[in-house]
Amino acid sequence: MTDLSLPVEKLKNVGTRNAPRLHRLGVKTLKDILWHFPTRYEDYSETVPISDITPDQKVNIQGEIVKITTKKLFPRRMFITDAIVKDLSGAIKAVWFNQPFIENQLPEGAFVSLAGKVKTGKNGTYLSSPTYERITDYGLRITDSETENNNSQFAIRNSQSNLKHTKGLVPVYPETEGITSKYLRFLIKPLLSDLKIPDPVPEMILKKHGFPALAVAIKNIHFPNSEESAQKAKERLAFDDLMLFQIKALLERRKLNQLKSASIPFNEDLVKSFIADLPFELTKDQKIAAWEILKDLEKKYPMNRLMEGDVGSGKTVVALIAALEVVRCGYQVVIMAPTEVLAQQHYKTISELTANHNLKIGLLTSSTAIMGGKKIKKAAIKNELSKREPMLLIGTHAVISARGGPASGGQKPIDLPRLALVILDEQHRFGVQQRASLVKSQNNGFVPHLLSMTATPIPRTLALTIYGDLDISIIREKPKNRQKIVTKIIGPAQRRSAYQFVREEVSKGKQVFVVCPRIAASENGGEPHPKGMGTRQEKLALLWQEVKAVEEEYKKLSQEIFPDLKVAMLHGKLKPKEKNKIMSDFSAKGGSASDVKDGIDILVSTSVIEVGVDIPNATIMMVESAERFGLAQLHQFRGRVGRSEHQSYCLLFSSSGDKSTNQRLKALVSCDDGFELAEKDMSIRGPGEFMGTKQSGMPDLAMASLANIDLIKKARAEAHLLLKEDSSLSRYPLLRERLDEFQKMTHFE
Ligand code: ADP
Ligand code: MG
Repeated sequence: MTDLSLPVEKLKNVGTRNAPRLHRLGVKTLKDILWHFPTRYEDYSETVPISDITPDQKVNIQGEIVKITTKKLFPRRMFITDAIVKDLSGAIKAVWFNQPFIENQLPEGAFVSLAGKVKTGKNGTYLSSPTYERITDYGLRITDSETENNNSQFAIRNSQSNLKHTKGLVPVYPETEGITSKYLRFLIKPLLSDLKIPDPVPEMILKKHGFPALAVAIKNIHFPNSEESAQKAKERLAFDDLMLFQIKALLERRKLNQLKSASIPFNEDLVKSFIADLPFELTKDQKIAAWEILKDLEKKYPMNRLMEGDVGSGKTVVALIAALEVVRCGYQVVIMAPTEVLAQQHYKTISELTANHNLKIGLLTSSTAIMGGKKIKKAAIKNELSKREPMLLIGTHAVISARGGPASGGQKPIDLPRLALVILDEQHRFGVQQRASLVKSQNNGFVPHLLSMTATPIPRTLALTIYGDLDISIIREKPKNRQKIVTKIIGPAQRRSAYQFVREEVSKGKQVFVVCPRIAASENGGEPHPKGMGTRQEKLALLWQEVKAVEEEYKKLSQEIFPDLKVAMLHGKLKPKEKNKIMSDFSAKGGSASDVKDGIDILVSTSVIEVGVDIPNATIMMVESAERFGLAQLHQFRGRVGRSEHQSYCLLFSSSGDKSTNQRLKALVSCDDGFELAEKDMSIRGPGEFMGTKQSGMPDLAMASLANIDLIKKARAEAHLLLKEDSSLSRYPLLRERLDEFQKMTHFE
């Protein structure tokens, strides 16, 4: 058996210089390197006779070096190596720059295999910096293969089983500084010839779907004989992860169903009277979602439900119906908001909506504590809660779930002995730990029900796979009275008049958001990490790029374009206090306060700072370099305006003249359904880009296969069957082992 846990340092061809570089690619063990899959292949399947070569072709040729010389060009201190390569049909020149050592590696008389692009120069066609490999076993192999095939041309082709860079489908890998695809091929190919790895997937399943065995799939994904065998290998490997995902989800759900929760009987009178009192009529989707949630609450085991709905679709009121019922039964409910501002906003709207319903509401953030409409000491509200007082507590996670961290001022976690329902607003903003610290069994032995909410629309197939252990409610329909936001794509020629328009709106007292993307790494010299933000350093680099982008835009707007207006900026380097101050100054302008004049007109921020806050007075969302964002994300930005009776606008600045880019942006002009846009976005950019692979914790390959509904269905079906037949997977120890690894690796919010 091949020892997959072998550290890469132990491999013959990995030295002290390359080991840390491999680590940076996430490659630490033999298994990691075998699972470091190519992103694509260069097709050098055909060896082309030299006389048949045409310009601009990418080709593999094979022949003999008849001449090789290296010249030094003095003015630019550059080396140029020229070689003439000859096969039975003709000869061609190959040229390399600044690699004088090639002359030693490819001496005259050597047989060589070259792959690269054919260019045309003054003296005819030549190969420009081709990849090269010596054919060392040429003579030997010719006799080998002669027994199989007497055609001499074929004899050459069949002899090069050891060529890895220039012949066949040549894998191209995710690279990093110092680790090239060439080096990775050099490392990986020898590992494959004698690969013996056990297959965790039961043979019966492989047979049923015609999947190759694991070792075969690994070989074929790196060095396939055909596109088809590469495809089969990819499917098989993605299937593994998808099936494990499903098994994990099913097991988690089963575990959950064995826990105990407070069962909340459906209180028809209460729900009816609350709905009748609302200042608006619920949409059909809101009613369905509420019904699904209330049904879940009746069960004796915990609810684990995700409510998805566009910004402004009215998720809060749905959650509130559930909260009301639970508190009325004598329990405690917590609504966690990701920011202090949002918590305050929830407190305000929820207090208004429940004014007639005698609901005890508390607010607890780092700066405020309110209970029963009055400001009180934090200790007092905590004391009340610990005395089992039924209440709806609204707060920030920093305060409520604190485990003695700095945010809590070193205090103990809050005691909620009657907690029966936890509602997470903007669930992706909460970490696993934070969630776990709330949704744990209380001292009555009960586990609270969990309702997560998100405004990020995730297409259903995707949601079913990655959130397999969740139930999902989708609010698609918007409340009737919603205004359409006017969306416009602004090219360079319209920029001036767009600014003029912004100025007019501001002079009417309106406010403006400006979002700018981080300055692309390529403009900045640095290369992004192929798998996203890995190390702390990389995170800092990204943060810096964002800050830089925001600062530049801020400077431009505040000094050149709108020197007479109040412009402010918000980015990740500011302290929480500074951020809060800016946000409250921004929201103050719309208010009736006397300091209106001092309020902020234009707020420049990064895409990461999801303001998520209601600023009804903000009517313009400007997005710089809109083409750099996904549709779903742009739609999110747009959702920050249009929160009042005033007509709102979304201005997408795009300097790209590219037709398909503008086509993409046009989808936003015509469509304002987040789910439709998410589906489009996913089909355009692929599920990996769409979700952010890193964020989801799902392996790249499985991610890429999420568009393959057929494969997902197979994985789901097999996961169900396996668990039905053997609920602890005791008959499949290898699969069990992979599952455990998988559980360590993936974690979802
Ligand atoms: P989100 O889903 O983004 O959290 P909210 O719950 O904050 O949305 O609702 C946005 C606004 O719409 C709130 O002011 C809320 O009171 C209002 N609202 C909710 N449901 C309806 C409805 N069916 N008709 C009209 N307004 C509604
Ligand atoms: Mg909300």
